[in-house]
Amino acid sequence: MKKILLAVTLGFLACNSSQKSVTENSKTEKETVSPIVYANTITETELKEHLYTYASDEFEGRNTGSKGQKLAVEYLKNEYESLNIQPAQEDGDYFQDVPLEISKVPTGTIVLNGKEYKIGTDFITFSSMETSLDKIVYANFGIETDGYSDYSTIDVTNKVVLINFGEPKNTDGTYVISGTALPSKWGNFNESLSDRLKIAYDKGAKGILLIKNNNYSRLLSRFEYIANSSREILKLATNSSADLPMIMVNQNLGNQFKKIVGSATSSKEIEVDLDLNIKSGNKKINSENVVAFLKGNELPEEYVVISSHLDHIGISNDGQINNGADDDGSGTVALLEIAEAFKKAADEGNGPKRSIVFLHVTGEEKGLLGSKYYTDFEPIFPLEKTVANLNIDMIGRIDPNREGDRNYIYLIGSDKLSTELHELSEEVNSKYAQLELDYTYNDENDPNRFYYRSDHYNFAKNNIPIIFYFNGTHEDYHRPGDTPDKINYDLLQNRTRLVFHTAWEVANRANKIVVDKPVIN
Ligand SMILES: [Zn+2]
Repeated sequence: MKKILLAVTLGFLACNSSQKSVTENSKTEKETVSPIVYANTITETELKEHLYTYASDEFEGRNTGSKGQKLAVEYLKNEYESLNIQPAQEDGDYFQDVPLEISKVPTGTIVLNGKEYKIGTDFITFSSMETSLDKIVYANFGIETDGYSDYSTIDVTNKVVLINFGEPKNTDGTYVISGTALPSKWGNFNESLSDRLKIAYDKGAKGILLIKNNNYSRLLSRFEYIANSSREILKLATNSSADLPMIMVNQNLGNQFKKIVGSATSSKEIEVDLDLNIKSGNKKINSENVVAFLKGNELPEEYVVISSHLDHIGISNDGQINNGADDDGSGTVALLEIAEAFKKAADEGNGPKRSIVFLHVTGEEKGLLGSKYYTDFEPIFPLEKTVANLNIDMIGRIDPNREGDRNYIYLIGSDKLSTELHELSEEVNSKYAQLELDYTYNDENDPNRFYYRSDHYNFAKNNIPIIFYFNGTHEDYHRPGDTPDKINYDLLQNRTRLVFHTAWEVANRANKIVVDKPVIN
């Protein structure tokens, strides 16, 4: 280790003299204070005590929106109140409401010029729309990009827009947008759908009718799978372009619309006799993130977010409870202990320079919903002032397929956006924790794609450096056997202390962590 370290330090000094190593940094500002005394308040006993409650049968596997999940957030709120750590929101509420809905396929029909068309057969949609229209706007391909727009001559405010899926071609057969014989991204359904929705949404449209000639059957089978599956599909109930009602009509119904449009090759308003009678099957679900906060004493408007998810998968169809002790009970209790350690430091006048946000998110098992709501819709603190996110998801067990020292942790994403964060993490570990840091799953091409599968991803995609702490899966992953008695509390303690030390260094370092490999330019 020494050899590499020397090389690294020199290189480091060469490229960025302002960034000092762990020891130099803390020596100058916090001479007398070592984080070790606070790290040692994080103990196996306390972690176990919390976990035997939080992952007990009483919490019924903490399914998002369920009674058990409500018990979980009350538990967290009571803990922060007893630690006297303030809520993050100005209104004094620890709970950040996360609007969710169970998306079920709607029911209903479309009546065009007196003829009825059925959902599933002639069109598919996941949105509801109940309205009668005598005018809609035909917007050709619904594209707006550099040098080309199907919206330049029309106003679609509060209108339903009819779009033909595809892209414009020149008389010589080349594509207008690419200028070549090769189609642009607008010719690819998956690549361009959200852009088409966003353009129409930003222009004030109230819905889209999309004529989809090819691949309709593939989308239909997905629609039927959801319609027939008992699996609950939860999504954020936020008003964003992704929620713009979109109805995809098949070739038959599409041809009826095309008859009305005629030979038009540009956008225009068209007269129709159209009833959309599509009723939503969606059911609203209330859930919440729990967010606590410790204000920094020198750089209070810079934030370090430490996160874990409070939910799990609930009760299986056979009635067995999935306790989720490791997933993510371990991350949840780790976060409570880290908060307690920082609070103790602050009470003794050794609080962090930067502010620390203790973020317990809901809906992770349903698609990273709570963290997505925080980053994409309601960040309590500005993302551009968020220095780093340390995300903990499953740190209480051992990966049975892993060889090597049991005192390990998988690190994912530490070097993705910031070389400095990666080196800081390494230095902190060698100084304070001496765990085996394993980067097996950090590989870009790792088929497990763990980098995209937990809440840090919503921060990373917003250019915030992240570290994901993870012990790998095991035989009880997402099963009733994931219980508190199977947790390795000594490892849970060591891994939690590593996260604490890393947060301490990020929060107290003179400079804000540098993002030298941004994802968004
Ligand atoms: Zn998890």
